[in-house]
Amino acid sequence: LLAQANHEKRMLINQLLDLKGSIRVICRVRPMMSSDALTAATSSSSILEIPSPDTVILAPDRTERIVYDFDRVIGPSEGQEEVFNEAKGLVDSVAEGYNVCMLFFGPTGSGKTYTMAGRPGDLGMAANALAHLFRLAREVDSKQQVRVSASILEIHNEQINDLLLAQNQQQPKLEIKEGSAGVEVPGLTIKPMAGMQEAEAIMQRGRAARGRGGPEEATRSHLVLTIYVTCTHRSTEATSSGKLHLVDLAGSERLAKGAVTSERTKEVQAVHKSLTVLGDVIQAIQQKSSHVPFRNSKLTRLLEDSIGFNSRTMVVLTCSPASEDASETRSTLEFGLKARKPEGLTRQGSTSPKRHFLKALRSTNE
Ligand code: ADP
Ligand code: MG
Repeated sequence: LLAQANHEKRMLINQLLDLKGSIRVICRVRPMMSSDALTAATSSSSILEIPSPDTVILAPDRTERIVYDFDRVIGPSEGQEEVFNEAKGLVDSVAEGYNVCMLFFGPTGSGKTYTMAGRPGDLGMAANALAHLFRLAREVDSKQQVRVSASILEIHNEQINDLLLAQNQQQPKLEIKEGSAGVEVPGLTIKPMAGMQEAEAIMQRGRAARGRGGPEEATRSHLVLTIYVTCTHRSTEATSSGKLHLVDLAGSERLAKGAVTSERTKEVQAVHKSLTVLGDVIQAIQQKSSHVPFRNSKLTRLLEDSIGFNSRTMVVLTCSPASEDASETRSTLEFGLKARKPEGLTRQGSTSPKRHFLKALRSTNE
């Protein structure tokens, strides 16, 4: 109970101090599923323990236990609503004119798409965020006019594809530009939407278009859903605009070296490089480094005005609890560790003596 109270207090403090440029890292552990192969070498028990709402312990075998601390750890029995609760404040700030970026990171099969897009009757982050924005729009209706629109693109082999083109439209060559209003992709389709029904239809179109290259290609491309929100004050005409990027990242898994075609190799290298650059960018921001290597990949160029500095970012690590996925789960958690604020820069009030910030503790069980 005390741990819970402390956790809630810490969450409040974190929300209050959720300053510009901050990066929150949360981890979601999916349930064990029947597709998780249970061979003789593996076991049916989870390799992840969640002793408190912000700690996860990776125990891949009897001899090793690695403790990871994040802003929040969401367990296998918690639903989409709990994940959304962690992001509500960020969605609010989009309506206030901030740029926000949510990155869903993990290997294929760990729950990125489920967490971001959900499934019918089980809304994911994107639909929950949109519903929240439409709710906010109705609440402020008398004073402000709120416009919501969206684009969906895919970055595949460092090339941008518009996923909202009409069937008969030719894919144009899209480039990233820095306009007066921030990063732009001239020519990209941006669809206005008035409510959830339209929003669902647009997201469905994006999903269908991503699927066209086959499921294999989908795991080796990044999908970026961007929601644009413009608020105009009815009497003063003062306008604020913010955008929310939701990024279903390419699978973070390392593929076995042999038996890959050259096309595959190219895809794998492109994914590996862009995820590495993303990690470097996040780390540079957390360390308040003077050089942030945004320019090194299309993805980070696209997100340049929405990560760090005057914006807010959330990294959602998705993890499988199955023992056959131990090494991928471990590298996902390590990515999250890299994305956390370095020690000394952590906010006051967010530490307690029992917590081991940034320390992957290894202990041997005798
Ligand atoms: P990814 O996009 O990372 O490859 P998916 O989101 O497609 O992974 O998830 C793989 C499978 O696991 C899907 O069938 C999905 O519905 C299921 N799944 C993932 N996370 C959860 C969860 N938290 N609760 C229930 N099912 C989940
Ligand atoms: Mg997916």
